[in-house]
Amino acid sequence: MSSQTAKKDFWDPEVSTASRDKIISIQLNNLKDTVRYCYDNNAIYRKKIDDAGVNPEKINDISDINKLPFTTKDDLRDNYPFGLFCTPLSQVIRVHASSGTTGNPTVVGYTRQDMDIWASCLARAMYDVGVRKDDIVQVSHTFSLFTGGFGFQIAAEKLGALVIPISGGNTERQLKIMADFKSTVLANTPSYTLYIAEVAAKLGIDFSKLHLRLGFLGAEPWTEPMRVEIEKRLHMKALNSYGLSEVMGPGVSCECLVQDGLHINEDHFLAEIVDPDSGKSLPTGSKGELVFTTLTKKAFPVIRYRTKDISYLYKDGCPCGKTFIKMAKPMGRTDDMLIIKGVNVFPSQIEEVLMKIKDLEPHYLIVLVKENFMDQIGVWVEVSEDIFHEKLMDLEFFEKSIEDKLYSAIGLHIKVSLKEPKSIARSEGKAKRVWDRRQE
Ligand code: ADP
Ligand code: ZN
Repeated sequence: MSSQTAKKDFWDPEVSTASRDKIISIQLNNLKDTVRYCYDNNAIYRKKIDDAGVNPEKINDISDINKLPFTTKDDLRDNYPFGLFCTPLSQVIRVHASSGTTGNPTVVGYTRQDMDIWASCLARAMYDVGVRKDDIVQVSHTFSLFTGGFGFQIAAEKLGALVIPISGGNTERQLKIMADFKSTVLANTPSYTLYIAEVAAKLGIDFSKLHLRLGFLGAEPWTEPMRVEIEKRLHMKALNSYGLSEVMGPGVSCECLVQDGLHINEDHFLAEIVDPDSGKSLPTGSKGELVFTTLTKKAFPVIRYRTKDISYLYKDGCPCGKTFIKMAKPMGRTDDMLIIKGVNVFPSQIEEVLMKIKDLEPHYLIVLVKENFMDQIGVWVEVSEDIFHEKLMDLEFFEKSIEDKLYSAIGLHIKVSLKEPKSIARSEGKAKRVWDRRQE
């Protein structure tokens, strides 16, 4: 953070590097305002707060958050589409929605001020890692009701950078534009980023000759070995970016250049970790479900929103100088957790093991089947071109050795099927890691 840089409205180190006491006092003030605001402007919130027996005037300490009721995805669905909005629609200038693969999608709205804060949160995170107005930002997230594309577009525009709103898909065109326009920054999902790298290799494109230097990758879980692979193939630093539409979109939290934990924009979002089963607050450092309260949103504020994402908050400060608390990269969602023969397993744990094994490609699919009424879990994973074509290895023996590694890491027998390179479907957005065939 150079002191010579002129002050920007999104760049406010006096907040993002303030003492913890100062940050907590900002949060407390904003929390009081938010609770009062929701109470006064939305009958559903008013009822929930009354039912919890909370007097909005009696929020005196940040720990009083524990007294407030949770908001869940079901609350949003039950009040579809706009029931939890706190402003009239005439003040809402944008809506987004999550994919809604099961039932009604969850719809969220933004006032002009909400949009501005959204842009500032993400612009601040990008600025802090060196994105400037000379940068050329290729946004390969989908532009749709999904927040990814538009979130990065407004943030990069706020920075004064040049935005390429290319959206997802059409990978050869992505690469042509990346080369011709000299893109320096990529906003994308990690899985689609790897696919872009794969198509580039096929076309003989060498990333060391292109200009990418930073990737903001998120919208789905990814692991450290996946980062190593992406950085090696694309010749850029890959930073984890996290967000969800119910809370805002991308920009809720983002990694700094230390690449160890994502700083939460704490003046706008208050994070807690709770036990996913009991809902009880857990102390800093414990692993559990992330819960967010928005502190400044107007059209669609949320109080204690249960994200279902599993993470923990860091106890220690960060060498980068920011004092905003960090969250660990989410390892998965409570609803993505597979329970096989009583063992809890997240797809990311399987990825972590696979990606460390030489001669495997970073493309895999977890397959669930029923055999004799029992759930069985298997994983398909691609091998490298070299070992596949040159038959340099006994593949059966290789499968067995991967199964052993998975067993010692996870405690579960996971049947490994090695697949031909490029045989597993690629994604142009969020990857689908699990194929559940148990009902077939
Ligand atoms: P949809 O329901 O359509 O996927 P969202 O875009 O709001 O809607 O998805 C948000 C979810 O995506 C988060 O709750 C989280 O599960 C996942 N997610 C977003 N960013 C990350 C990230 N960096 N790491 C892991 N998971 C992420
Ligand atoms: Zn940091």
